[in-house]
Amino acid sequence: MDCIFCKVAKGEVASDIVYQDEEVVAFRDINPQAPHHVLVIPRRHIATVNDLAEPDAALVGRLYLAARQVAAQLGVADEGYRLVMNTNRMAGQSVFHIHLHLLAGRAMHWPPG
Ligand code: 5GP
Ligand code: ZN
Repeated sequence: MDCIFCKVAKGEVASDIVYQDEEVVAFRDINPQAPHHVLVIPRRHIATVNDLAEPDAALVGRLYLAARQVAAQLGVADEGYRLVMNTNRMAGQSVFHIHLHLLAGRAMHWPPG
């Protein structure tokens, strides 16, 4: 399987990692949409939210705990940040390995585009 985020998780392609542990890696997006744009991924390949199953519940929780940690590290926890996970075509998912976008450093609009 040729998955760019699996390669990031294994260190096979260069990335600017801001947090990692046994299950999760967080790294800066290559095409940032905000002053801070970090992607939080599980090391294990899961293509989309549609592919999540009951045993993945703790892992998904880990993504949020890692995002919380990254927000604190970046100093944006209090001012605020947005967490987004796009799923499939209509939401604009382009990499099919689940990832939580952490966007911060500017005011976010609602509804999102
Ligand atoms: P999606 O559109 O699937 O929600 O988000 C995919 C994100 O991955 C995009 O924001 C894109 O800029 C980012 N991205 C794609 N390839 C790479 C890569 O090789 N390295 C990094 N750091 N980000 C990537
Ligand atoms: Zn993958």
